[in-house]
Amino acid sequence: MVLIGPPGAGKGTQAARLAAHYRIPHISTGDMLRMEVRQETPIGLQVRDRLAAGLLVPDALMLGMVEHRLLQKDAKQGFILDGFPRSPYQAEALQRLLERIQRPLMAVVQLIVPDQEIVVRLSYRRCCSLCGKTYHLMYNQPQREGYCDIDQAPLVQRDDDREDAIRTRLQVYHQQTEPVVDYYRRTPLLREVHALGDVPSISLHIQNLLKGAAA
Ligand code: ADP
Ligand code: ADP
Repeated sequence: MVLIGPPGAGKGTQAARLAAHYRIPHISTGDMLRMEVRQETPIGLQVRDRLAAGLLVPDALMLGMVEHRLLQKDAKQGFILDGFPRSPYQAEALQRLLERIQRPLMAVVQLIVPDQEIVVRLSYRRCCSLCGKTYHLMYNQPQREGYCDIDQAPLVQRDDDREDAIRTRLQVYHQQTEPVVDYYRRTPLLREVHALGDVPSISLHIQNLLKGAAA
C-alpha cells in the first residue's frame, strides 16, 4: 500500500504502527535519504541541500532506490510506501514497476490534515539522532526530556522542520503531490482518512478501511 499526505500528516507515525500490525516493512523514502545524508554517501552529499530546503530530489535517483528496496526479500509479502510517489511521474513509474514485478497495489491511503495543524505538528516534531524515531513536544513526549526512549540518544529537530522549509514543503505538496491523489482517485485504490485525533484511533480507522481492500 501507499500512504500519502502532506508533510507532518502522520504518515511515518501511522506507517510504523501498520507495519508492526501487518508484519510488513515500512519503506520511507525520507528516512532512506536522511540515512544517506547522515552517512555522507555520494547520494547523501548530492541530496543534502535539497532536503534541507524542502525541495524534491531527482526522480531517477528516487526510482532507483525504491526499486532496489522493493525487490528485497522482506517486501515479498507486502510493503507500506511512505513518501513515495510524490509526483504524477513517480506514480506512473511505480505503476509500471509494480506491473513488471507483478505486485499490484492494494490501497492508497490519503491522510487529510489542514495546513494550520501541519505547522503545529512539524514545528514541535523532534527525531532521535540515532534511530530516527519521531516525537512531538506536546502530543508525543519522550519519557526523558530531550532523549529517545529506545536508545537514549539526543533528540534533534530536522533541518527541514524550520519555518521557511515548512512553507516550501507545503507548497511543493500542493503543487506536485496533490496531483498524485487525483491520479489515484481515478482508480478504485484511494481511501481518504481525516487524520485529526489520537494516533491509535486513526490506525484503527485505516485498518478497517483496509479490510475492504483485502477482499
Ligand atoms: P509525516 O511522516 O507525515 O511527516 P509524522 O508521522 O512524522 O508525519 O508526524 C508529524 C508530527 O506530528 C510528529 O511530531 C508526530 O509525533 C505528530 N503526530 C503524528 N500523528 C499525530 C496525531 N494524530 N495527533 C497529533 N500529533 C501527531
Ligand atoms: P515529510 O513527509 O515530513 O515531508 P519525508 O521524510 O517524506 O518528509 O521527506 C523528506 C524530504 O525527502 C522531502 O522534502 C524531499 O526532499 C525528499 N523526498 C522524500 N521522498 C521523496 C520522493 N518520493 N521524491 C523526491 N523527494 C523525496
